[in-house]
Order: sequence, then structure tokens, then C-alpha cells
Amino acid sequence: MDKKTINWAGFSKKTPKERAIFLERLDLSADSVATLEQEKLLPLDIANQMVENVVTRQALPFSVVPDVLVDGKVYQVPFVTEEPSVVAAASFASKIIKRSGGFKTHQDKRQMIGQVALYDVDNKAQATRAILAKREELLNLANSAYPSIVKRGGGACELIVEEKGDFLIVYLSVDTKEAMGANMVNTMMEALVPTLEALSGGKSLMAILSNYATQSLVTSTCQIPLRYLSRKPDEAEQLAHKMALASQLAQVDPYRASTHNKGIFNGIDAVVLATGNDWRAIEAAGHTYASRKGSYQGLSTWSYNSSTKMLEGTLTLPTPIATKGGSIGLNPSTRLAHDLLGQPKATTLAAIITSIGLAQNFAALKALTSTGIQAGHMKLQAKSLALLAGAAESEVAPLVKELIKQPTMNLAVAKQLLEHVRQAD
Ligand code: NDP
Repeated sequence: MDKKTINWAGFSKKTPKERAIFLERLDLSADSVATLEQEKLLPLDIANQMVENVVTRQALPFSVVPDVLVDGKVYQVPFVTEEPSVVAAASFASKIIKRSGGFKTHQDKRQMIGQVALYDVDNKAQATRAILAKREELLNLANSAYPSIVKRGGGACELIVEEKGDFLIVYLSVDTKEAMGANMVNTMMEALVPTLEALSGGKSLMAILSNYATQSLVTSTCQIPLRYLSRKPDEAEQLAHKMALASQLAQVDPYRASTHNKGIFNGIDAVVLATGNDWRAIEAAGHTYASRKGSYQGLSTWSYNSSTKMLEGTLTLPTPIATKGGSIGLNPSTRLAHDLLGQPKATTLAAIITSIGLAQNFAALKALTSTGIQAGHMKLQAKSLALLAGAAESEVAPLVKELIKQPTMNLAVAKQLLEHVRQAD
């Protein structure tokens, strides 16, 4: 069935089983259907091969944010997160942005950067000339250390040298195709060490991938007509101005920028985790990029265009996302995530993930500059407290109803009220 024609209204009201059955109308593989039907999780023997000292597996909620429109195509986006309200906020924002024409994305290239840091180099200028004179040989040497990526159409493509403090640093750019490329870049960098030491007369301190993936920048933008901010035009215009101000605040105050970006990563991490990508790598790259101008700043910007009457959002992020390699393919729920997305290429997945970051940021700023964040969170907080207090599925709704009437919500109050709910039954 054409995914665009599916009506997702009421998806959030269904039970998990009903949602799983609903998802089967997408063009999913037999493996994904079995994962949904049998709630197949990562097998212990596979987990035991992935990392060390395994005793069990950690489970987290796996959700879907439906109908996210990116570059003219609709995606059903898998989210893995434990934080209440993240999925609801992303769904709400994505719906509005889809009605507004969706996200438009841009990326110049997708390459990873590796570095060899040389020290004890007596004459750095001479060493730089010697290394650059052998640029082609060094690129060939790197490629011969990982020939399979060259066969796939990728490989080492650029080499530069920079002096930084006591170091002479050699940077290599590598097209890692569908992989994140940590292992392949590390292999290439280590292969360059003996030649670089000989050419520079110095010693290598380390040879490794850099997570600051400035050659994998993805920009996502959206334009939202005022009518989607509020039915009342004056209120909508005021809100657009306040959201633009909130974006300025995150540029000038690191205390706000930190929370602003945390909200962006609420969405990004959820999709990165669902798709089996390395979320530490994406976080490291994002936070370094946020500090590129010398102070930590908000990653997204919003402005109000008074001539078009549109709120315009932009988010640029280093997004070295993979669809192959690492643990992708080993975990049944990761395979399901890629299948739900229609098996996108790495560049497409990076575009979707950056767009989700912008959607999440839109929802957070809209709530913060209008009703405040707690209004939407109260019910979700009450739900978490109800679950923590030990409420059974049928007891959660009545307990939440009672909890939100209380002047103070905490675990003790939730436990007390749970007793009342049970006695009333
Ligand atoms: P892998 O070492 O798994 O290499 C990629 C694999 O994918 C290769 O086996 C490659 O096969 C295969 N592959 C299949 N199709 C393609 C394709 N179209 N394009 C590219 N590769 C393809 O993963 P990475 O090198 O990407 O490294 C990522 C892992 O390294 C992650 O688990 C990460 O957590 C970890 N890591 C991260 C570090 C960091 O971020 N600083 C440091 C160290 C590790 P073939 O060999 O045949 O080409």
C-alpha cells in the first residue's frame, strides 16, 4: 500500500498490539512482521557477541512518529526513548510541518575525517611540504589498507596538514559510503603512521577518526504559516516573535543553549538509537559544532518573516549516520526501524534525523513561549508516578485523573491515591 495514503488518525489511541497490527499495512518484510508480532528482541547470544560481560538486555519503548514529510517523501519514523512527551511532541510538530510543506534538506557531501597527530617534529614547515609532496601516495596507501570501501565507490579522497600547538596534524577525508566508518578510518590512519613519521621526522601520538564530522553537515529547514501557530492571527504573530526571541536567547546564553540543544537531541537520539547508530558519536559531533564560534550556542535558529508571514526554522548538524556496519543488522528491532523507514540510504536517514531534531525543537519552543512546558508535561508526569506507584494498566487512567487535581504530585501522594482508587473498585 502507498504509505502516503494511510490515515494515521487515532494511532496514538490504539493499544500497542493494535498499533503493531496497523503497521503491517506498510510494506514491511516478513522479518519485521515477525518482530512486531512476536515482540522479538535482541537475542542474548547475539548481545553476548556485541560487547563484553553481558548478563541480560535492557529494553526501552519503541514508538513510531507517523507521516514525517522530508524532501517530498513521507516517512514513518521509529523512536526509541524512555522520556515521556518526546514522541507526542515530535508527532504534533511533524504534523504541522507536513501541512506547511514539510522539511527541505541540504548536504554538500558525506565524508568522515581521520587524524594522525605528530609530535617532536623539529621543522614543521619542512615536514608539511614533505607530506604534501607525497599526497597521492598517502591517499593510495590509505585506500590499500581498506580496499573494500574503494570497491564500493568510496575511499580516501583528501589530505591536509595543519600545525596546532606542539603538533603537526594530518587530516584525511574518507568517503565511507553507507557506513559510519570509524573502524575503516582508524585502519587507514594507522596504515599511514610509519610513512608520516618517516616524512616528518616526528612521532605519532595517535591515529584515529575524529567525531567532529564537519564534512557530513546536514541542514534541514521548514517554513510554517502563522495560521498553524494559533487560530487567532494576533496571537500567532506574537508567538512567532517569541519563538524567534527564544532562538536568539539560545545564541547568547549557554545556560539556555544547553537545554535548547538537549531538546533537539531528544528527537535525534531517539531515531539514532532506534536505527542502531552510535549516539555518542552524534552527540559529540553536535555539541562540538554548537561551540564552533567560541561559545556554546543553540544549534537551530528560528526567525519570523513578516512579509511572507512565515516562521522559518533551520538546523545544521554534523550527522555521520550509517545504514550498514556496527551493530546495525544484528538487532531485530534495528532492522524493523530501517524497514519502517523504507530502507533509506545513509544520506537520506541523516536528512530525516536532522529534520526530527528541528521538529522536536519547534514543539519545545512553541510550548515554552505559550503555555509553558509543564502544562503538557503534568499528565505525563502523573502517568510516570502512577506506574512507579505500582498501578496496574486499568488503574493508571483513574489514578492520573486524581493525581492532576492535587496541589503537589509526588510518589507518596501517588501511592496514597492508588489505595483510594483500589478501595473505590
Ligand atoms: P564496521 O567496522 O562495521 O564497517 C562497516 C561494515 O559495513 C564493513 O564490514 C562493510 O563491509 C560493511 N558494508 C556493507 N555495505 C556497505 C556499504 N554500502 N558501505 C559501507 N560499508 C558497507 O563499521 P564502521 O567502520 O562504520 O564503524 C562503526 C562502528 O565503530 C560503530 O559500532 C561505532 O560505535 C564504532 N566505533 C566508533 C568510534 C568513534 O566514534 N570514535 C571509535 C571506534 C569504534 P566491507 O568490509 O566488505 O567493506
